[in-house]
Amino acid sequence: MRSSSMDSVAERRLCVVSCHVERPLDDQVWAAFRRFQTRRPGGFRVAAIIRPPDPASGEDEETWRQRAEVAARQGPLGHHTHFGGVSTARPAAGSTRLGERIATEARLFEDAGLVPRFFVGGGWYMDPDVAEALAERGYVDCTAACFPRRYLQPSDRRLSLASPAWLRLPSGRRLLELPTTHSLGALLRTCVRLRMLNGPLVHLCFHDTDLLSARRRSALWLALEYLRLMGRPMDLDQVADAWAATAPEESLLSVILPAATPG
Ligand SMILES: [Zn+2]
Repeated sequence: MRSSSMDSVAERRLCVVSCHVERPLDDQVWAAFRRFQTRRPGGFRVAAIIRPPDPASGEDEETWRQRAEVAARQGPLGHHTHFGGVSTARPAAGSTRLGERIATEARLFEDAGLVPRFFVGGGWYMDPDVAEALAERGYVDCTAACFPRRYLQPSDRRLSLASPAWLRLPSGRRLLELPTTHSLGALLRTCVRLRMLNGPLVHLCFHDTDLLSARRRSALWLALEYLRLMGRPMDLDQVADAWAATAPEESLLSVILPAATPG
């Protein structure tokens, strides 16, 4: 039985789930994601953070538009960029003007009549130029993460933030940041080790390709049932609305890693 204090913590903790829709033009992956999103596991409206088509790779824009429309009817919509192309999430070393890629991709959403509100950078990449491009579009960013990402090197640019904040950018603009707090693996480890969930927001993310594995699909259902009991199921739109008015302000440069060295 849960104590009343546990109940009040669970009542205040907002839980939300998003999917990086990496392969919207792969029929098998798309069918798995569509089925999962439509069924609302744990009662959650799953946000689709979808990668736009890459015309340079011959990806079909019309099929993508139809699928993105379906996803947008089922839950909040976001924009996921692979800076280095379809299968290369992070930008190549020395890449510049990454904000231009975001603007080009954003036009594909606009042309389709879609209005994504959220953004996640491929490979969790973030830099000031990207942040400015996001703020200019009024996006809410979810690229900050605080769970272990062993494939990142200490020198890889990323954001480290555990709870929502308005990030103050060098231009003076502000960008609302709703961190991604747990991967599926990180949440399951917390659950199995009976550790407490910390913080006022639990934002679980997974990848559409996870859904091809029956084992990972079952693990996701389990994780979302667990979250439903441990907090208040919300969707990303509701969480963004809730935090927009109350999130504290932080300098982008104070949460971007690796920290800039003087001179
Ligand atoms: Zn990706």
